[in-house]
Amino acid sequence: MDRIDDGLLKALLRKVDSLGQRAQEQKRRKVKIMEVCGTHTVSFARSGITSLVGSYLDLRSGPGCPVCVTHQQDLDRMFALAKLKDTLIVTFGDMLRVPGTFTTLETEKARGAKVHICYSPLEAVDLAAQNPSYNVILLSIGFETTAPTIAATLLQAAEAGLSNFYLYPALKMVPPALLALLQDGGCDLDGLILPGHVSTVLGSEAFHFVGRFGIPAVVAGFEPLELLMGLYVLLRMINEERAAVENAYSHVVRAKGNLSAQRLINLCFEEEPVTHWRGLGPIPSSGYRLAERYAAFDVRTRYELHTPPVEARPRCRCGDIITGKISPFECPLFNKGCTPSDPAGPCMVSSEGACSAYYQYMLR
Ligand code: SF4
Repeated sequence: MDRIDDGLLKALLRKVDSLGQRAQEQKRRKVKIMEVCGTHTVSFARSGITSLVGSYLDLRSGPGCPVCVTHQQDLDRMFALAKLKDTLIVTFGDMLRVPGTFTTLETEKARGAKVHICYSPLEAVDLAAQNPSYNVILLSIGFETTAPTIAATLLQAAEAGLSNFYLYPALKMVPPALLALLQDGGCDLDGLILPGHVSTVLGSEAFHFVGRFGIPAVVAGFEPLELLMGLYVLLRMINEERAAVENAYSHVVRAKGNLSAQRLINLCFEEEPVTHWRGLGPIPSSGYRLAERYAAFDVRTRYELHTPPVEARPRCRCGDIITGKISPFECPLFNKGCTPSDPAGPCMVSSEGACSAYYQYMLR
């Protein structure tokens, strides 16, 4: 644990150790905590904290990796669009090798499909302007954190009067997914680490509903000190048997969130009645569709997409991982039939995927 080397971090780790071991003795088992956000999963693993606290904490991932929770049928439809002669797909790099049921974007690119890896979604607007003979399709995968940037891109395309710019809208909302998970039993969780970035946009108050389930929860940041502070606040509540929602990231996250970002989202999007998630199935009001005034930018109005209904990749247990039922080490394919160079599911490919994080940072 190279990065945790100063006195403050070590002192905080000792406090976390003490609280965690006491909670473990009370429960006579490891304390089960879900880090809802994929970036937290990666930060915990990369900093070494997952291993350091592993004797008393059972850290589980949640539905907070956007690529991982994207339903298989959405992936198949995106990849079917890439095969068309008149399309140019714009996407972030971690989508390239995600396995669909029949193909990947990487395979289609090698076969001649136009696939552009972007650093910013705004690149899609320039590409549409420069390539009028192609329909440019921005794969819009993400949560409340990505939605404002996609909204700004959409507004720019609308202002430029582009008729060859489209979105494949697959943006999702974290609170309804967490609610569905908790209503489903919550995997016997003892505590939740709430997503820092999503809370920055929505505000910590957006997660106050968690208190109804008798599970303590904390909003935490991503640096090692912030991760340990989040664990400290959470374990203190667990020891006190107090189920509150606390904000240990208050230097960044406000109670009401970022109102400008929320306005941008509300201008461009509205709630989709039902959205399908990998691992969680259909969840009401948990996704964004384009607001009516921008509906013509939805690529599904331009092309009819027929792909056979599918549920998930056979044998891949991403669905169980992103709902906290198992850890990556419990998947029989982990580091056997599934590695980053030959992934069997999205959790091994995405930069926020739990299997990828465990493979990179926790294999000895
Ligand atoms: S190790 Fe591979 S097969 Fe197993 S859940 Fe993760 S991505 Fe899926």
